[in-house]
Amino acid sequence: MSDDMNELDTPTFRLAVAQFDQAAERMNLDPNLRQRLKLPERSLIVSVPVRMDDGTVKVFMGYRVQHDSSRGPSKGGIRYHPDVNLGEVAALAMWMTWKCALAGLPYGGAKGGVRVAPKELSRGELQRLTRRYAADILPVIGPDKDVPAPDVGTNSQVMAWIMDTYSQQVGFAVPGVVTGKPLSIGGSLGREEATGRGVVYVTLEAMRHLSLDIDKASVVIQGFGNVGSHTARIMRESGIRVIAVSDASGGLYNAKGLDIPELLRRCNQDGQPLHDTKLGDWITNEELLALDCTVLVPAALSEQITHKNANKVRCRVLAEGANGPTTLEADQVLTDKGIFIIPDILANSGGVIVSYFEWVQDAQRFFWKAKDIQDRLQEIITAAFHRTLQFSMAQQATMRMAALMSGIDKVAQAHLARGLFP
Ligand code: NAD
Repeated sequence: MSDDMNELDTPTFRLAVAQFDQAAERMNLDPNLRQRLKLPERSLIVSVPVRMDDGTVKVFMGYRVQHDSSRGPSKGGIRYHPDVNLGEVAALAMWMTWKCALAGLPYGGAKGGVRVAPKELSRGELQRLTRRYAADILPVIGPDKDVPAPDVGTNSQVMAWIMDTYSQQVGFAVPGVVTGKPLSIGGSLGREEATGRGVVYVTLEAMRHLSLDIDKASVVIQGFGNVGSHTARIMRESGIRVIAVSDASGGLYNAKGLDIPELLRRCNQDGQPLHDTKLGDWITNEELLALDCTVLVPAALSEQITHKNANKVRCRVLAEGANGPTTLEADQVLTDKGIFIIPDILANSGGVIVSYFEWVQDAQRFFWKAKDIQDRLQEIITAAFHRTLQFSMAQQATMRMAALMSGIDKVAQAHLARGLFP
């Protein structure tokens, strides 16, 4: 990492840059472009004052980082989490650039976040925080500039408040300023489940490629939020046994397969914590990652599989629902063990693919049926999977390397075509 990047220097940013460097080296990327693509185009830091319910004012740090806009408006989620920092947001923005290019979407990459524990805020505090953060980043977002979406700790309600704050400023409803909104204000059918559905589509393709039997397969999922819970449901609906799921507090394990519909009902409708459902044996997240299974889906935070636990991982396929769940050292260990890795920028791209559908529908004021969305998602993500697989075999590269090289190459082509301003 060069001195130019001091402000961004965190483990997650180092991971993103190290992956980029490996791919850039292998594809012999022009050195001028290499330097340009390592650094985000624009990084905005805001301090967000919020009046709390007790009358005091608390200030939270917020970020919006736009990594690249050569191929279109930048696109990426907003994260509310106590560990959010500039380097992490910049890493996630860089991954968004490669992800959008790999899927062939006309977007660059961005990401945003606020360093806050959202569960500790009341609904009113969360709304005031969101509206002030939205107002602070308002100059750099817009349907043709940069389009936020939900990520860890945010949801469709948060997107609705951002859409309203933006619309109040310009004087008319602008649904296309965010994606992942409620249906009532221009959201898309199928957006909420899209990332999980995409994870399932690419996992099924990988299993077909490896000739793995669906009837005998088992899936373990770390994280039971948006991505993890929809992945679990759709895996189950596809006839695959889900033997363990977890959240930040720990996991549930049942070798015969968890009753996912019942689990979802108790957690989502009754608000029961995973632990209290007693639908399986209680295990730690460390134990969960070491379970013998066909498919392991990390769907929580980054850097969960490291040099410390990679040796214990016993899956045949690793489908990265989360962004950056595997460190560079762990990636090598898993590859040496013969584990087939579907890298994050491919495996979790279903979310941004359906976000793209939502943005197109908003622009056209014409909304599609759920079936159209599922079919188009499947078509795009499955094609991206097979392009990556073919390229990885032709180049004798891992799936991660092939995905990164394909994404980076598309962005490099756009930069070369446009040239350098001025
Ligand atoms: P979420 O906030 O809905 O859920 C996160 C889940 O992870 C929760 O169940 C939480 O309890 C759990 N968790 C947190 N820390 C954990 C830990 N240490 N061990 C185990 N579980 C832990 O977030 P999400 O939207 O589902 O995002 C999850 C991951 O997927 C993130 O890496 C995110 O960037 C990525 N992602 C999300 C989307 C999307 O559309 N939401 C799209 C692409 C990628």
